[in-house]
Amino acid sequence: MSTFNQPLGGNEMPRFGGMASMMRLPMADSPQGLNVGFVGVPLDIGTSHRPGARFGPRQIRAESCLIRPYNMATGAAPFDALQVADLGDVPINTYNLLKSVDIIERHYRPILAAGCIPLTLGGDHTIALPILRAMKAQHGPVAMIHVDAHADVNPEMFGERIAHGTPFRRAVEEGLLQGDKVWQIGLRGSGYSMEDFDWPRQQGFTIVPAHEVWYQSLAPLMAQIRERIGPNTPTYLSFDIDGIDPSFAGGTGTPEIGGLSVPQALEIIRGCRGLNLVGGDLVEVSPAYDTSGNTALLGANLLFEMLCVLPGVAYR
Ligand code: MN
Ligand code: MN
Repeated sequence: MSTFNQPLGGNEMPRFGGMASMMRLPMADSPQGLNVGFVGVPLDIGTSHRPGARFGPRQIRAESCLIRPYNMATGAAPFDALQVADLGDVPINTYNLLKSVDIIERHYRPILAAGCIPLTLGGDHTIALPILRAMKAQHGPVAMIHVDAHADVNPEMFGERIAHGTPFRRAVEEGLLQGDKVWQIGLRGSGYSMEDFDWPRQQGFTIVPAHEVWYQSLAPLMAQIRERIGPNTPTYLSFDIDGIDPSFAGGTGTPEIGGLSVPQALEIIRGCRGLNLVGGDLVEVSPAYDTSGNTALLGANLLFEMLCVLPGVAYR
């Protein structure tokens, strides 16, 4: 009999019934004793275009009800050896972005201090900044794998320094990242200038534009990344769902055509196995634009895949 929390099974309660916690796991109000906690951040006031990512955590939880405990492709059995729960949502202040950013950082610090790895349900991408601030306080500067259509390194947006298109510019300025161990995968779309991606390259980031990896397996790229980062460096995975092509994941605020495929997304996350992942997020799901539910379903499954590659996961 397992001593670890298990997702509620489909033969105990129909999958469409019961409370919509992440993967039908127990809710927890403290990170004490948890190896991993799913955390929702229902914030979208950093969004530049289509809103609605504030409803992302709820919809990801709702679509996660179909996910069963074992990863049939990789053999991962995350609930055999890790204590996992849903820690609920961060009570952001939806009238104030700067206050919300502080609330988020203060919410994550004790989670990290308890030794609990946070997997975050976003929320727009602004939330990566306070999470990375908390990460630095716990782990020092981290390596990062960032999947996105956008580099999110604008100096400012509409005169504001904090927005969903600026978090990684601020993160560099604040010394939150190991610049030579950052990859941005899936970048594409039209830009303001041909130099838009020069600034991250100058910080040491490796840019992998979507068109350079169309039709390709990303397994070789991930092997290179694992070799460069190594098994011990604290590493954060930030996954903007708009990195995936809008034909698979159109329910998002700033869609760009010609994106990554779902198998490529799986290769990226599965390719993180062996890294010292200290946290991950899945951001920018906007349910109002997700008429099929596929975007939230994909987001929920990508969070499960993140869980399956965390340090300490058992494999069968
Ligand atoms: Mn983004
Ligand atoms: Mn994006």
